[in-house]
Amino acid sequence: MALPFSGNPLFCPDGLREDEIKLHRLKIREDALFLPCFKFDPATTESGDLFWISWKVVHSVATDPNRAIFLGHAPDGSPRFTIDIGNSLEAWNNFTSNLFQNIRSVAAYLADNRTAIVAQAHSILKWIANHLFCSRCGSNNAVSLGGYRLDCTNPTCGALTFPRIDPVVIIMITSRDNNKCLLGRSHGYPDKIISPLAGFMEPGESIEDAINREIREEVGLSCTDIRFWGNQPWPFPSNLMLGCFATAEQDRLTVNEDELAFADWFTRKQLEEILRNPDGDKIFPQSISISYHMMRAWLGDE
Ligand SMILES: [Zn+2]
Repeated sequence: MALPFSGNPLFCPDGLREDEIKLHRLKIREDALFLPCFKFDPATTESGDLFWISWKVVHSVATDPNRAIFLGHAPDGSPRFTIDIGNSLEAWNNFTSNLFQNIRSVAAYLADNRTAIVAQAHSILKWIANHLFCSRCGSNNAVSLGGYRLDCTNPTCGALTFPRIDPVVIIMITSRDNNKCLLGRSHGYPDKIISPLAGFMEPGESIEDAINREIREEVGLSCTDIRFWGNQPWPFPSNLMLGCFATAEQDRLTVNEDELAFADWFTRKQLEEILRNPDGDKIFPQSISISYHMMRAWLGDE
């Protein structure tokens, strides 16, 4: 099953991003299409689909058309780019009444592999915006490789920066008899939502190390039989969610209240009731998240 934000249909041939002349030729091709973004949110049509524009239109609505980022070729061969329109909202509004939509709602609406294009555009544009300066010497960075590398403009430094991805482990812990699963909520999460526990991986950790540390820290458990279940790019701004199932060696929880607002065991019957009742005091996470799909998988639905 392809999870939301995954299964990207765009393809970039090896070496193409290194060739500036070829990239420019792709931009000006008649079939080239650009996904405009404002504050990292994509433009959508009135019906909620992605709204692609031509190179000619990019020139009339974007502050700096040369900042277009190459995303890849669509299955029909059409070159696809994304462009941050910058401060040109007025020019945009003169061109169209189509709006820019929050990527969570766009993803929930599209619900197919176009969500991966949204994730790609959002993550890469945000990465560039947050790395204007070289982290080694503080000089300006220049965008290269069609948006996939930042080059320090100080010739005595020359540091190269590549897009960053932050891995997160997300863990569906079950009891030894597999009749209960462990769900919780971190501080700062929206009220009512319950989900498998999760945490950022730290340098020097394997996936298993990170899971064992998180589970020990958050609920005082040790676990065994860690099984990889699936993964999902999570563009807020550029995480990779690594979904695993694991079996708890104990039942008794010691909830770390500094880390979690809540954690407890749930039977399948309890979880099915929560799924059926979206107005209850506990609810599933958004269906665009891997955690939602892991909970459905444990119920046997997926
Ligand atoms: Zn530098």
